[in-house]
Amino acid sequence: MSSYERSMGKFTLRCTRCSAKYDAWHHVCDKDGGLLRTEYQQKHLIPAPHPGIWKFIDWLPVDGIIRSFTGGPIAYQSGGLARELGLKNLWIAFNGYWPERGAELCTCSFKDLEAPPTIQRLMERGGKEILVVSSAGNTARAFAHLSCLTGYPLVLVVPSAAMNRLWLSPGDERTEQIFVISVEGDYSDAISLGERLADQVGFVPEGGARNIARRDGMGTVMLESVLGMRSLPDRYFQAVGSGTGGISAWEASIRLIEDGRFGSRPPALHLVQNLPCAPICNAVHGGSYDEDCPHGMYDPVLFNRRPPFDVPGGVSDALEATQGSVVGMTNEEAREASRLFEEKEGIDIMPAAAVAVAALIKAATEGQVRADEKILLNITGGGERLLRKTSSLNRLSTDMSIKRNEQGEDMVIGRIKEKLREARAK
Ligand SMILES: *Cc1c(COP(=O)(O)O)cnc(C)c1O
Repeated sequence: MSSYERSMGKFTLRCTRCSAKYDAWHHVCDKDGGLLRTEYQQKHLIPAPHPGIWKFIDWLPVDGIIRSFTGGPIAYQSGGLARELGLKNLWIAFNGYWPERGAELCTCSFKDLEAPPTIQRLMERGGKEILVVSSAGNTARAFAHLSCLTGYPLVLVVPSAAMNRLWLSPGDERTEQIFVISVEGDYSDAISLGERLADQVGFVPEGGARNIARRDGMGTVMLESVLGMRSLPDRYFQAVGSGTGGISAWEASIRLIEDGRFGSRPPALHLVQNLPCAPICNAVHGGSYDEDCPHGMYDPVLFNRRPPFDVPGGVSDALEATQGSVVGMTNEEAREASRLFEEKEGIDIMPAAAVAVAALIKAATEGQVRADEKILLNITGGGERLLRKTSSLNRLSTDMSIKRNEQGEDMVIGRIKEKLREARAK
């Protein structure tokens, strides 16, 4: 390693479109707005002797670990579902709570893979800024858990209809650093307000698809799966709202290809949305979503009006590079898939994950995948019912409600900051 490389730390950032190089804290490419991708010094996948997700610290943009967080992705070869669908090489990446299989993500979704490296990175930067997270539920829970573990200050901006999703992981009591804003409207309204707040001095946005800690955290699903499968899968199935998980799977596969031991072709992304509220599907196949969306969805977590589709390094590029595709599944198909999955694999899954299972069933039934292909199915959330059986879960309560007609007001940000100051002074 040259002294120049050493001084650059364990990774540099590079624009996925024009290859311009940036330092660790840059957000997007100055020239074309492209997503920046981490390029790690370490080119080989060598699991570190740390628990859970931290096993992949070489390919996470952090120097240290959060010892109290020990969860991670798990992967296993499917028996029951594989037989049912006539697939010989189906692997399941399970992200959620299933202790029997070693899955202990305690807010039950793969957002638990995003929050720890994001918070660790902020703490390594000095940890002075209040983190703002807009979420339809799962992301909020994951970050709330991390705030309880670390004491990191957090503002959650959540659509009022999603408030009932803000349950706390068992044992999470230190909620003093969490401030919850309930927003009348949907996820997009929460995002708009969250962006304005995060723009203020002293605040930092979670960053969405631009957040390298989020993408590389979610990328560990592919890393863990490849350790089990011993090679890259041919196909990767995931339910998407923003599509960030799909981008992450693609990026992880690029690193694995560079490693040299796991194959030379990235898995074809099979991204799945929930009809009729499917903006990414529309972007590829045409059409538009219903005005009522996300009302009536099987899982509203999958609705994002502004997914990172056309941005360089975004969903469109990921689909093109992997010869991937996007499909939409109905509530009915998802419901049936959920039932079948639980019957064949023995664990409950989140509605979003069932949407991905439905697409796999369809692809297998219609012969779009071959029986001997290596397929990775990302179960992005599950085990919530199992968790509820053994623990009673407390919920976060609202610290401040913002009505629809207040959201556009200039004063609203000032009011939030004042209320937050008061809460933090207590
Ligand atoms: C967030 C989420 C998704 C969609 O993730 P993307 O950001 O679109 O990749 C899918 N399933 C569950 C359970 C989620 O929480």
